Amino acid sequence: MVTVNKNYLKLPGSYLFSTIAKKVAAYQEANPDVQIVRLGIGDVTQPLAPAIINALHKSVDEMANAETFHGYAPDLGYEFLRSAIAKNDYEARGCDIHADEIFVSDGAKSDSGNIQEIFGIENKVAVCDPVYPVYVDTNVMAGRTGAYNTKRENFDGVIYMPCLEENGFLPEFPTETPDLIYLCFPNNPSGAAITKDKLQEWVDYANKNGAVIIYDAAYEAYITEENVPHSIYECEGARTCAIELRSFSKNAGFTGVRLGFTVVPKDLIREGVALHDLWARRHGTKFNGAPYIVQRAGEAVYSPEGKAQLKEQVAYYMKNAHTIYNGLKEAGYSVSGGVNAPYIWLKTPNNMSSWDFFDYLLENAHVVGTPGSGFGAHGEGFFRLTAFGSYENTQEALRRIKAL
Ligand code: PLP
Repeated sequence: MVTVNKNYLKLPGSYLFSTIAKKVAAYQEANPDVQIVRLGIGDVTQPLAPAIINALHKSVDEMANAETFHGYAPDLGYEFLRSAIAKNDYEARGCDIHADEIFVSDGAKSDSGNIQEIFGIENKVAVCDPVYPVYVDTNVMAGRTGAYNTKRENFDGVIYMPCLEENGFLPEFPTETPDLIYLCFPNNPSGAAITKDKLQEWVDYANKNGAVIIYDAAYEAYITEENVPHSIYECEGARTCAIELRSFSKNAGFTGVRLGFTVVPKDLIREGVALHDLWARRHGTKFNGAPYIVQRAGEAVYSPEGKAQLKEQVAYYMKNAHTIYNGLKEAGYSVSGGVNAPYIWLKTPNNMSSWDFFDYLLENAHVVGTPGSGFGAHGEGFFRLTAFGSYENTQEALRRIKAL
């Protein structure tokens, strides 16, 4: 008889966003006339920029002719895209990263979930708390953690680094030394950003301890402040301790198109093995390349027109972020995030639990957000609103919240 991977059974049943969807659907059914404004899920709403649409049309047409047709893409991505990434995302920022250290993929969710495979099962994992759930859940599935601890509401065997108001929502070095450190800045869910000096401390810490940082920079396009790094490779020594994950989802609206990449510098060596080689082996074995059409669309992100159009798109969402941030402040809430990120993190009023506030907001303002506790035990008492709605809906949501 076949056995199942029992690590999966350690995962608590219901997934945050399906619970939210069920609650909202039940409320809408009971109140069919109510106009609900959704500022919950981190999905974009603006259409793809014209430069990207043009690139998609052009590459679709290429697929219609034998001479210009493209089959399997190279495992690690087309040279045209990897060079554009190296030049624009790294060289232009003074980072020593080369095209052959970039692995094109179908997005940062897959990469952030899969990257743990190239590491030994005995490695100690450290994550921020609250956290994007994929980092923890995929390590649970792999068997790198203990059981779910219902009292602490997190997993045994994982090092959680509380990110709270008192530490500016930034992690502190844990008492137990970790091997794998997941950092995500600008942060989902808190919207917190890390300065270059602070990130340098993490790079130095990882190099000193032989740890590896998995740096998720999916939201780098939303950075507005000068002292906030767009890449971990802006820090000295990051080539020997960091892997960086990037996505086209939030900077270019590719959530439904699917494209991302991972950077593994060739100097990143552990136990005498280049992690670049392991990830190349993994990618080559389990992934057959992002579609040609999509990689051409990705290339257009770096064209002059693409850059100009996407700057406007990001600015549109950031206008929403400011609307939410300022509106909540005016209404007397304690708020953070929203300056270098499309997420606003608010403290629930009157010590309400995150889920109580979710119900309160749904029932009284007909606004949907995300309970902070869904991102980890230390997210309790907080709530996330996203800037990815339309400007009109965002304004309406804030009008209602202020009227409460
Ligand atoms: N990483 C973080 C921190 C995210 O918040 C998300 C999506 O919300 C992703 C990765 C997933 O990105 P992608 O759409 O590229 O899979």
